[in-house]
Amino acid sequence: MTLITNSVNMINIPKTNKKRVIIVGCGFAGLTLGRKLKNSGFQIIIIDKHNYHQFPPLFYQVASAGLEASSILFPLRKIFQNYRDYHIRKAEVKSVDSVNNKLMTTAGEVEYDFLVLAHGATNSYFGSVEMQQYSRAMKTIAEVLDLRNTLLMNFENALIAKDVSERDMLLNIVIIGGGPSGVEIAGALAEMNKYVIPKDYPELKTIRAKIYLIEAADRVLNMMSQKSSEKAKEFLEKSGVHVFINTKATGCNSNTVFFDSGMNISTGMIIWTAGIKGNLIEGLKSDSYARNGRLIVDRYSRIKGYENIFALGDISIMTEGITSNGHPQVAQVAIQQAKLLSRNLKRITLNKPLEQFSYKDLGTMATVGKNLAVVELPFVHFHGIFGWFVWMFIHLMSIVGVKNKLVIFINWAWKYFTYDQSTRLILRPKGYS
Ligand SMILES: Cc1cc2nc3c(=O)[nH]c(=O)nc-3n(C[C@H](O)[C@H](O)[C@H](O)COP(=O)(O)OP(=O)(O)OC[C@H]3O[C@@H](n4cnc5c(N)ncnc54)[C@H](O)[C@@H]3O)c2cc1C
Repeated sequence: MTLITNSVNMINIPKTNKKRVIIVGCGFAGLTLGRKLKNSGFQIIIIDKHNYHQFPPLFYQVASAGLEASSILFPLRKIFQNYRDYHIRKAEVKSVDSVNNKLMTTAGEVEYDFLVLAHGATNSYFGSVEMQQYSRAMKTIAEVLDLRNTLLMNFENALIAKDVSERDMLLNIVIIGGGPSGVEIAGALAEMNKYVIPKDYPELKTIRAKIYLIEAADRVLNMMSQKSSEKAKEFLEKSGVHVFINTKATGCNSNTVFFDSGMNISTGMIIWTAGIKGNLIEGLKSDSYARNGRLIVDRYSRIKGYENIFALGDISIMTEGITSNGHPQVAQVAIQQAKLLSRNLKRITLNKPLEQFSYKDLGTMATVGKNLAVVELPFVHFHGIFGWFVWMFIHLMSIVGVKNKLVIFINWAWKYFTYDQSTRLILRPKGYS
């Protein structure tokens, strides 16, 4: 075993005679691949800019003060504690030098035999600088905590507002994007508005927040069936959410959102869930990219134009044999692609033929609030309380870590019986008051 010390800028990881696989990003895809390559005979390096794995499907519950952030995060070092020849580096990958099989990161350079890019996606604002500046998003836990703090601060500031128009502006919440994230945060905020706000802020009891959900298409949840979309809209409206379909946000400033219908809403909280694009790592050929910054891969997850560089999950787009839009950017695609790649990497070293990817759609679901969810499994669609229990069970089982499962279960049970939420603390880093 020799140490790589040939350059001061090199990440110091023992070089062995094993082939080295570098996994960039430890989300659903990276985590699954890392786990599946245990005892595979490769040296594994995992590089992530965070030292934890996060569970985005429950971000909206943290944003709406229903769960503590720590219950949906899991430390990477704990996950891989007992894995031999696994090396984790908390660093941000900046670029790939595919000629020299090298990766440039904020912690230095590192060489690879096989490189797997699984660094996910971020928000796309379709070029609107104002929307990027003034809206809150839910793509990372940092954004989610910022959203939660702003939401709670707006309630506090509404109590000390100078006049009624300022108070109402602070109590208006505009959610842009009626996909699962938009629908779920709208439902959670409606519940908070109904059960928590009147108790915490008795002065606002008769006023309450107004929640608007805006969707440009002709229905919310447009990746689901017409019936599920209608049910979700009905559930939301019953919970007090104002749903606008066929309505496009055309711009905003610090306290107003403008729409193509001519409507304006004055608001202290814009939540953006409408657009997504790939996280950028430099160095790959421009024709390896499709629109939205996704990397084009073949059915073995190999990036177009490269033999030993792969992409998985949200950052990739696989169109061969399916529609030109590729697979949906959801957890199951990332997990299934990672499982197959773990087998194919072993096959490559054994000179065996590779297996092609086929996506097995396990279904889609979204929850709209207590006892309300729409669920579409491959052979059956249902909604309401049964759907809600199925949604809870599946999400609970998918969370990493027994302690996290237990904490979330207790939180949900507490909330079910008390109509109360556990976390309404405004905690901000140094520099904020
Ligand atoms: C709010 C929200 C709700 C969602 N709800 C659902 C749902 O209910 N069901 C569902 O199936 N899907 C849901 N999704 C989508 C799902 O989360 C994604 O499809 C899935 O996370 C994709 O997995 P991934 O491994 O490709 O990327 P990610 O899970 O995004 O992981 C990417 C990782 O890469 C790291 N990273 C990024 N850039 C760099 C860099 N330059 N250097 C180093 N590390 C980097 C990040 O820190 C992260 O750990 C939701 C997404 C969001 C945002």
